[in-house]
Amino acid sequence: MRKAVIVGAGIAGLAAAAAVAPFFEEVTILDKDALPDSPLPRKGVAQDLQVHILLKGGELALETLMPGTRTALLAAGAVEVRQTEDVSIWEHDAWHARRDLGHSQLMMSRPAYEHVLRRQVLALGNVTIQDRTPVEVLPSEGKALTVIATGRGDQLLAGLDVPTTTLGIEVTYTSARFAKPARYRGEGRFIACIPKPPDDRYGLVCPVENDEWLITLCSRFDNKVPADLDGFRGYAEALPIPDIADRLRDAVPLGPLRSYRIANATWRHFERASGLSPRVLPIGDCISSFNPTFGQGMSVAAGHALALREALVTVGADNLDSVAGTYLPRASAVTEQAWTMAAMADLEYPLTAGDRPAGFDKMVLGSEAMRRAAEKYPEVHLLRFEIGNLVKPNSAARSGPAARLVAKEMMRRR
Ligand SMILES: Cc1cc2nc3c(=O)[nH]c(=O)nc-3n(C[C@H](O)[C@H](O)[C@H](O)COP(=O)(O)OP(=O)(O)OC[C@H]3O[C@@H](n4cnc5c(N)ncnc54)[C@H](O)[C@@H]3O)c2cc1C
Repeated sequence: MRKAVIVGAGIAGLAAAAAVAPFFEEVTILDKDALPDSPLPRKGVAQDLQVHILLKGGELALETLMPGTRTALLAAGAVEVRQTEDVSIWEHDAWHARRDLGHSQLMMSRPAYEHVLRRQVLALGNVTIQDRTPVEVLPSEGKALTVIATGRGDQLLAGLDVPTTTLGIEVTYTSARFAKPARYRGEGRFIACIPKPPDDRYGLVCPVENDEWLITLCSRFDNKVPADLDGFRGYAEALPIPDIADRLRDAVPLGPLRSYRIANATWRHFERASGLSPRVLPIGDCISSFNPTFGQGMSVAAGHALALREALVTVGADNLDSVAGTYLPRASAVTEQAWTMAAMADLEYPLTAGDRPAGFDKMVLGSEAMRRAAEKYPEVHLLRFEIGNLVKPNSAARSGPAARLVAKEMMRRR
């Protein structure tokens, strides 16, 4: 009997189960946590109280893996946020233009996304989830395919010699769920305040299920967001836009404020590692974990899962020893798109530890020109949204009419 085992029932593990299910008779997901029957936070995913944005590319990947996911997310209370009618983004020194880009995103809390995906995966019929089952050693070589989806704190592959790229980002998130004051009930507006480096005061208001808000304030390095309510409100008051502080003023927290510190973004290059069994495949944060302010992790995990499905189609499930050779470079390409974008922004902060690529200053000018061109030209705005949301590759910015408008904008400032 062809079996697959997945360690970790986070977003990557669930997406991996959907990817492999058509090729195996039995798929078992093992997780150390007790998994709740309802959308509740849990210990094994310590970041799940923080804002989690599902990028459009991630939603599309999950829909491809499990048709009906979008409908299931909406049925579970996800808030549909139209781009950009329902969005207010202040970036550097200006509001983004408001126009219809023809896309919408679904916003909800991380426990709610996971709850929906768990149900979707179980509905596939050949997938079972065994919770309260910590896995402490890598399975010995056997016939099964094993996927390691144990997240950014992975220990199972820690002993391997894996070339790793690291950026010292030192980001702190502080978040809480809030009940909206009467005047904001029913408002489905997503608000983001994205600073211009070296300013590091970042803020997000995310509409989530039950007509609540998840509000996150972030900082970098030694600047810390206070974790008491008055301090949190004061930090919001100091942002360059009043919109977040206004909403926080009478909002009622539904639980304590929680902080989460991320010292590093890491990318483990398993495609270049030695000693990894060909039937053991890492996925999700286990491969790459990013600065979360770009909202990429869940979507990259879904992209890795699509790469796994494509690898199984390419080599065939009777040829399991060849899957890794096809899957790992494809997963790495998925990571690369997100990493390039996030690293560009992270490295603009002089205190970020990491190698600046050759021509970095020119790249910064290029991305700044694209930001300005997006304000003026709808086609550049759409392209910037689609690249940032992992719908289109970064290379889409290098050719075509929108690329010419960006080049024109770059020349203008010379
Ligand atoms: C502060 C913060 C904010 C974030 N915001 C966003 C966002 O806005 N958008 C976004 O897309 N991503 C965001 N992310 C990233 C996102 O959380 C992850 O990228 C995403 O959840 C995929 O993670 P994963 O499934 O690989 O790992 P995880 O979600 O960490 O899941 C790992 C699972 O493995 C289990 N496990 C671990 N070890 C073992 C073991 N030995 N045996 C059995 N089970 C085990 C755990 O219990 C858990 O269920 C954020 C991350 C952080 C830290």
